[in-house]
Amino acid sequence: MADPLAELREEAASCTRLAELREEAASCTRCSLFEGRTQVVFGVGDPGAALMFVGEAPGRDEDLAGEPFVGRSGKLLDRLMREEIGVTRDQVYIANVVKCRPPSNRDPKPEEVASCGGYLMRQIDLVSPAVVVTLGNFATRALLSTTDGIGKLRGRSYPYRASWLVPTYHPAAALRGGGDVMAQMRADFVRAKRSLHETAPSTTDPGLS
Ligand code: SF4
Repeated sequence: MADPLAELREEAASCTRLAELREEAASCTRCSLFEGRTQVVFGVGDPGAALMFVGEAPGRDEDLAGEPFVGRSGKLLDRLMREEIGVTRDQVYIANVVKCRPPSNRDPKPEEVASCGGYLMRQIDLVSPAVVVTLGNFATRALLSTTDGIGKLRGRSYPYRASWLVPTYHPAAALRGGGDVMAQMRADFVRAKRSLHETAPSTTDPGLS
């Protein structure tokens, strides 16, 4: 039988390591994106969450607030997680592949992902979620190490590290694309909720490591 005290100690240690990692990232100059940032947008939420969302990179609102997904996309994300999974933002963990805002909201470059990806990998290992939901093409391709598009990749769960990875659209795509994209996102969120109760996969992933 699991020792509840040992579990609590492990959770506290992981919390401390996450706080140390946040501190390390706060002064990071590993890639040129540090030059244009207001602040590093490390991540937010419950350090012991079973569910983690991963987006691409901070936009203008996130760069100013220091928190991922705070604009219109963030409000939609909050609504979908509440309506389809029954959780609020403080019950999950949210982070991006890249922690500093790219200029003019361009896609992060491969060398920026290579410089920054280690932070995300350590976040995933420390939070140790049962399910990782990737939001949009960029995050999904980076974590699954593929060039396939989100339209092809969504609709199933993938083994990823010790978790399930469930790809879905970026909320901005649902805001632009309307009913069809929104319906598919809702279905993906339901899939993520179901995956929370499935046995963790034992295979390792081929993606960002
Ligand atoms: S994007 Fe990542 S690697 Fe680049 S400076 Fe920011 S925290 Fe460091």
